[in-house]
Amino acid sequence: MLNIVLFGPPGAGKGTQSERLIEKYNLVHLSTGDIFRANIKGETELGKLAKSYMDKGQLVPDSVTIDLLRSEVEKYKDPKGFIFDGFPRTNTQANALDSFLSSINTSITMMLSLDVDEEELKSRLLKRAETSGRADDANPEIIENRIAVYKKETAPVKSFYAEQNKFHGIDGMGSVDDITQRLFDSIDAN
Ligand code: ADP
Repeated sequence: MLNIVLFGPPGAGKGTQSERLIEKYNLVHLSTGDIFRANIKGETELGKLAKSYMDKGQLVPDSVTIDLLRSEVEKYKDPKGFIFDGFPRTNTQANALDSFLSSINTSITMMLSLDVDEEELKSRLLKRAETSGRADDANPEIIENRIAVYKKETAPVKSFYAEQNKFHGIDGMGSVDDITQRLFDSIDAN
């Protein structure tokens, strides 16, 4: 299997690039953010809980997120691989993902981490707010909080994969097509 963690701060382009990667490599796209938003839309209990954190730019608790991710992976029979987008976001989640994948006899192949300047991130998120309807994109204070949470809790996940020699930093600035090509090159060289 080809199991990719597509990593990067909020607004780095993970969702956009995931769409291109799943098409080229025939993978299943699992975005925890998308799954939470679908639950909010469906007014489920999970959605209500997730919304209370997401609206403030905080992380949804690990236990909830890990259980959700596990049950999503289990829905697919014989997939070619997964793109994990927005997961893992803490070292606890990364550890849980490793043990879960090993229990189903597979593992993460590589982490692709998109590097984007902070100013560029903020401007992309505010631009996305014009069409996404996402409350967490529209408010500059919430954006600041998401970036702060990323730096404190999520960025350390890079070292988790670097220690396993699975970390690949990718320049996430420039055109969408150029970034896609860099991701393809990195996967094909692996
Ligand atoms: P972005 O990468 O632009 O922040 P996402 O859609 O990935 O957007 O995430 C939106 C929100 O969903 C996060 O700010 C967080 O509240 C919640 N979320 C998504 N994935 C996770 C996760 N793995 N762990 C905890 N919370 C998460």
